[in-house]
Amino acid sequence: MAIESLNPYTGEVLQSFPAFSAAATEQVLAEAHQAAAAWRTTSFAERAAVLRRAAELLRRRQHELAHFMAIEMGKPVRDGRAEAQKCAACCDYYAAHAEGFLADEEIKTETGRSFLSYAPLGVVLAIMPWNFPLWQVVRFAAPALMAGNVGLLKHAPNVPQCALALESIFHDAGLPPAAFRTLLIETEPVAGLIADDRVAAITLTGSERAGAAVAAAAGQHIKKTVLELGGSDPFIVLADADLAAAAKTAAQARMINAGQSCIAAKRFIIEAPIHDEFVRLLTESLRALRYGDPLDEATDYGPLARLDLAATLTQQVTDSVAQGATVALAGGQPDPRSPRFDPIILTNVRPGQRAYTEELFGPVALVLSAQDAADAVRLANDSRFGLGAAVWTQDVAKAEQMARQLESGAVFINGLVKSMNELPFGGVKKSGYGRELSYLGIREFVNQKSVWFG
Ligand code: NAP
Repeated sequence: MAIESLNPYTGEVLQSFPAFSAAATEQVLAEAHQAAAAWRTTSFAERAAVLRRAAELLRRRQHELAHFMAIEMGKPVRDGRAEAQKCAACCDYYAAHAEGFLADEEIKTETGRSFLSYAPLGVVLAIMPWNFPLWQVVRFAAPALMAGNVGLLKHAPNVPQCALALESIFHDAGLPPAAFRTLLIETEPVAGLIADDRVAAITLTGSERAGAAVAAAAGQHIKKTVLELGGSDPFIVLADADLAAAAKTAAQARMINAGQSCIAAKRFIIEAPIHDEFVRLLTESLRALRYGDPLDEATDYGPLARLDLAATLTQQVTDSVAQGATVALAGGQPDPRSPRFDPIILTNVRPGQRAYTEELFGPVALVLSAQDAADAVRLANDSRFGLGAAVWTQDVAKAEQMARQLESGAVFINGLVKSMNELPFGGVKKSGYGRELSYLGIREFVNQKSVWFG
């Protein structure tokens, strides 16, 4: 089988990579295992020097990286360059802070001295999605490498050129090649890697379905996992909010990466008196966006990453409308043979409809009406997912109270949910478990070892 790079905007097959044979995969794993033994003995300063060079290369090669993202998964080049810069900042962040985050901690016990230390685990297998083909990988790799682990990347099959470009960056930065390798493999050999004693842990960013399968396999072999899965983030706007700013940000939050982001706002929960005006303003903002070639600097949103993703989304919308939802802004696929998908707004979204219960991974905004703040929280929490949430109100005390009641891994007040190096990132419920970024992220794949002196 081959791993194919296909331009979703033109439909052209760009390149085809033969999948690694079982023997080639075994060799990469054996080398990674060996590299882990050496890399764990390096100092924080040596690791930081590599990560700082990787940051430099990410900045220097941002145009080339943005080009790969544009042609493989449809991300506008403007956004691709921003993604490369964000990755660079993450490498710098962990280069600067990893040693502090993993410093020994003295702990008082009834006897003499005790302390907690953090030791690397070894080879970590990273299974990653295509939507942020660099960022999802770097936010795992930067802390993992700084902690003294090594990484094997099984990327999504539609972004092989992005995966290989990132591998080159780490190698060119001076990382021992075997300490970070891209495995061009399909789904089937992953189970064997998870089972192999030389793989210490697994991190997966992707769908609930993939998360459940990988966690089950890892559980069988008593392996630690971190799961960053789907979301259907609520974006609550109360009647006292700055409505114009909220609606403008709402459009931005829904349209991140043409709507294909786990933390894109997906359910807009609006206090009843401002519901209609919000829909009007959101419509205006979404209508102003320009579809086009991801390589064009003026493009606001490109095609969805694959035709089957557009077809699934179309079906979810069609079914929801048949179940009673109302189309307030008509969009969708102008041509079923193309992954172009224009923004849609659905209102009258109710329990029992697909749009109410499922994640809509594309530019479809659901607007729900809430009686008051308590009703808004109830609606927000009435979801299988719990990744991010946003609350818009001028009443800061009320916002804080709502933040404490919301069942999600993050709540952003009067802003758009985003991942930041300083803040832990992850979900609850079916959005997964474990945290990336911040000091919590780097402590996921380490042996948290207690040492006690009698
Ligand atoms: P996906 O289909 O689950 O694929 C993600 C990765 O998992 C791919 O590399 C895929 O490779 C692999 N995979 C799927 N099933 C597998 C299995 N049974 N065993 C081993 N590997 C498996 O997800 P996607 O469509 O690429 O991404 C969209 C989903 O990711 C959305 O639900 C989105 O919300 C979520 N996401 C979450 C976050 C977060 O941080 N929480 C961030 C981004 C995206 P193959 O295709 O080769 O199987």
